[in-house]
Amino acid sequence: MPELPEVEALGAYLRDRAVGRRVERVEITAISALKTYDPPPTAATGRMVVDAARHGKFLDVVLDGDLHLVVHLARAGWLHYRESFASAAPLKPGKGPIAVRVRLDDGSGFDLTEAGTQKKLAAYLVTDPAQVPGVAKLGPDALAADLATFADRIRGRRGQIKGILTDQSVLSGIGNAYSDEILHAAKLSPFAISSRLTDSQMAVLHEATREVLTDAVSRSVGQRAATLKGEKRSGLKVHARTGLPCPVCGDTVREVSFADSSLQYCPTCQTGGKPLADRRLSRLVR
Ligand SMILES: [Zn+2]
Repeated sequence: MPELPEVEALGAYLRDRAVGRRVERVEITAISALKTYDPPPTAATGRMVVDAARHGKFLDVVLDGDLHLVVHLARAGWLHYRESFASAAPLKPGKGPIAVRVRLDDGSGFDLTEAGTQKKLAAYLVTDPAQVPGVAKLGPDALAADLATFADRIRGRRGQIKGILTDQSVLSGIGNAYSDEILHAAKLSPFAISSRLTDSQMAVLHEATREVLTDAVSRSVGQRAATLKGEKRSGLKVHARTGLPCPVCGDTVREVSFADSSLQYCPTCQTGGKPLADRRLSRLVR
């Protein structure tokens, strides 16, 4: 799933490439992807792209006259910029990975695509991004929050730190991948209880959040071409690296599985050398 760094990179690309161009047409090919009906997609026609912003993991293509195309890419969605399109004919609604196509007046444009059968990509055409329910309830941006705000938000919700960090209403922008990386950098167990973190643990966690996200943003923006093809993230230390050596201490990266996700961590760096109980495995042996 694209998280803060990837969405930031997509926004940077659009600011470079699309700002100043006018929308020729917005084509909705996956009807279920468009969550709003008023204003209609035709309202975007002729409007100029004036900015590309990010709200947590939402991308906001800002058009002149206060119109916003706000997109949540969900788990398998991506934005593909096209310098040109093979055909000028509108796409036919129906099957296929393209959910939304935006054609611009220089012949370029972008497709919002979603792989797989689970269709969760969501697009909203609104006059104010706060009209998008997911945007309205976002907590402060994970990269912008200072230590006091950060600590306040984390302590304000009691629970396992892994879940708290990925709760978009606590702090916005962090998902499954970067929370694994942040907790590894902060040497904290994913199951540490948020309200019990000491001030120094909190300061380390805040610093780790800034470092991991800032590094990932510069890598994503730097590898712009690769990023825009949706290629795998680089530079991850534990996430999606089960069974591989931790680059910090050499211990083997382990995994805890849940119904529809998993987390990775390093026992030596994060849990005093003790493996966490894997719920899936413990269910089997019970
Ligand atoms: Zn380690």
